[in-house]
Amino acid sequence: MTEFTNLGVKEIRDGVAGGDFTAREVAESFNAAVAAAAELNAFIVTTPDHALAAADSVDAKRAKGEDLGIMGGVPIGMKDLFATKGVQTTAASHILEGFTPQYESTVSQKLWDAGAGMLGKLNLDQFAMGSSNETSYFGNVNSPWRKEGANAGMSPGGSSGGSSSAVAARIAPAATGTDTGGSIRQPAAFTGICGIKPTYGRCSRWGVVAFASSLDQAGPMARSVEDCAIMLKAMAGFDPKDATSLQMDVPNWEAALSADLKGKKIGIPKEYRMDGTDEEILKSWEQGKEWLRDAGAEIVDVSLPHTKYALPAYYIVAPAEASSNLARYDGVRYGLRDLPDGAGLQDMYAATRAEGFGDEVKRRILIGTYVLSAGFYDAYYTQAQKIRTLVAQDFAKAFEQCDAILAPTTPTASFPLGSLNEDPLTMYLNDVFAVPASLAGLPAMSVPAMVNSDGLPLGLQIVGKPFDEQSVLNTGLAIQQRAGFDAAPEKWW
Ligand code: GLN
Repeated sequence: MTEFTNLGVKEIRDGVAGGDFTAREVAESFNAAVAAAAELNAFIVTTPDHALAAADSVDAKRAKGEDLGIMGGVPIGMKDLFATKGVQTTAASHILEGFTPQYESTVSQKLWDAGAGMLGKLNLDQFAMGSSNETSYFGNVNSPWRKEGANAGMSPGGSSGGSSSAVAARIAPAATGTDTGGSIRQPAAFTGICGIKPTYGRCSRWGVVAFASSLDQAGPMARSVEDCAIMLKAMAGFDPKDATSLQMDVPNWEAALSADLKGKKIGIPKEYRMDGTDEEILKSWEQGKEWLRDAGAEIVDVSLPHTKYALPAYYIVAPAEASSNLARYDGVRYGLRDLPDGAGLQDMYAATRAEGFGDEVKRRILIGTYVLSAGFYDAYYTQAQKIRTLVAQDFAKAFEQCDAILAPTTPTASFPLGSLNEDPLTMYLNDVFAVPASLAGLPAMSVPAMVNSDGLPLGLQIVGKPFDEQSVLNTGLAIQQRAGFDAAPEKWW
């Protein structure tokens, strides 16, 4: 029997279309794998019936000779930040516990229309705020990876930690993620999988629980560049319901994939050589350059002089937008309501928010409210917006000299759960390489490069010009082919 759970998106889609196996067989084996992996805590709710119903519909279409869609027969995990009609959607927060949307997010609807089915709603950092998946109200997600010879639970990264854990553990062939300041790329790097954040506006934000609206972008997480290309096409496209949605055609990235980089220039930003970056990460970056040279690319030095200001600017802009977006959770409209005896409206707001939000979310709301306050707006928020523009201009200048940029995804490999909880600043530093591309709205991807001396995966990041996901994917493919990354976590769950 085929081990369906080892298959990726393309293999499942093509196998179902070619009649090698049925979509139902595939859905059944992934449902069983999900049920057997409760220890990972990757899912907040599982939806085996959704996966089976979608599979049956694909099998029925095949029997009638109809088109199965580009994700036909592929069961996926859905980050619990996407509103799913009739299925609890929590953003991993107590304040949304029990909230069942009456509508479907645009991205999830597009995936169902493309023939995908849903295995369940994936755990994440609460409201997507975090880098370790430890801020979820529903408990940490465990990475399937462990250090060689050690038993400590490791972080799958965050905020899309349920997504990365499930895909790396092979209990889902692919999953949706969202990336505000690294939440697709960092968890992908920590777990040895691929993930791409497309250009801001490629994927509709409609029906995605908002964190920082000018940064939030959805994207696919899967075990190969090809699978990401396929799934991104299913997710992307203009949506009149999202005012920042790109009015552009969605290219057929899969068809145009090519690992031949002859004539391409790859930029190496010198400012990404930062103090505190792990030696092995720097070694993987050197190796990445070699691989891309081997693929025909010319390696050029570029400068992104405002890099060191990007992270502090992000931690002003993102909390500012979050404090505004999260004002809607007031005990009136969604989820939790705490109405103490004899309480008035203000008391209800305060009690509901005090009980419903986790500590990290409260920290962000406080920071955001502070930087937007009349007395400090110019000192913080306006300055941060100026830095954001400078960071974007840095990239625009660099892209006059190169077609894509290669950098590490993270400054370190995954860390043990619990090890950074008392140290929010070190936790924030995880995203130091990811945040600049987010501020600039650029497409960026992480692909696995190698495992380090602890046996943990390391990722390389490729950043592209606006709308040029193709070059990002092609560069990723060139790395994938040369890295030959086939390490998988040893099963302990
Ligand atoms: N880790 C970053 C943060 O906590 C990024 C989160 C994200 O991209 N959603 O804000």
